[in-house]
Amino acid sequence: MVDLTRAESLIALTPDYPEPGVLFRDVSPLLADGDALREVVEALIAPFDGRFDIVAGIEARGFLLAGYAAALAGVGMLQIRKAGKLPRPAAAVSYALEYGTATIEAPGVLRPGERVLLLDDVLATGGTLTAAQRLVEDLGAVVAGSAVVLELTDLGGRTVAGDVHTVFTA
Ligand code: 5GP
Repeated sequence: MVDLTRAESLIALTPDYPEPGVLFRDVSPLLADGDALREVVEALIAPFDGRFDIVAGIEARGFLLAGYAAALAGVGMLQIRKAGKLPRPAAAVSYALEYGTATIEAPGVLRPGERVLLLDDVLATGGTLTAAQRLVEDLGAVVAGSAVVLELTDLGGRTVAGDVHTVFTA
């Protein structure tokens, strides 16, 4: 078993971002470290070995993880994007934020029943990941699993997003 202590130490705590009172977990140093990034991406996908056909990344940091994971697994990648970025979105899901709503979209590239592994950097309230799960289902595909680098347990995301594999918890 790989010791991920060093990788975890590369997640920087950033107080008062994006607004006062929020302690943001910045994964930039982890993404910038080749060994740590490889160890974390391997840990993200390990439980799902051979049980997915494509990896979905949630914009924007999820893309970086999903691209790496897809290359490691020898599969393709699905972009889950913020609204308005795709030329031909095939499905959209809106979800509630603390203030207002957000919408995510995906292109029509999935085959019916294709098994999708969803990746993101952080699970907070779970709204984003839950919306991504719905988006995959709306596209006629199957959620093979959901995994994040870091789960913020106090925010209860697991209660809405269901069974999420997490490499680190805080
Ligand atoms: P949720 O929808 O679970 O409340 O928020 C998760 C989404 O917001 C993820 O896409 C994640 O990238 C972003 N996010 C929320 N809090 C943090 C944080 O502290 N650090 C990072 N890196 N992303 C966050």
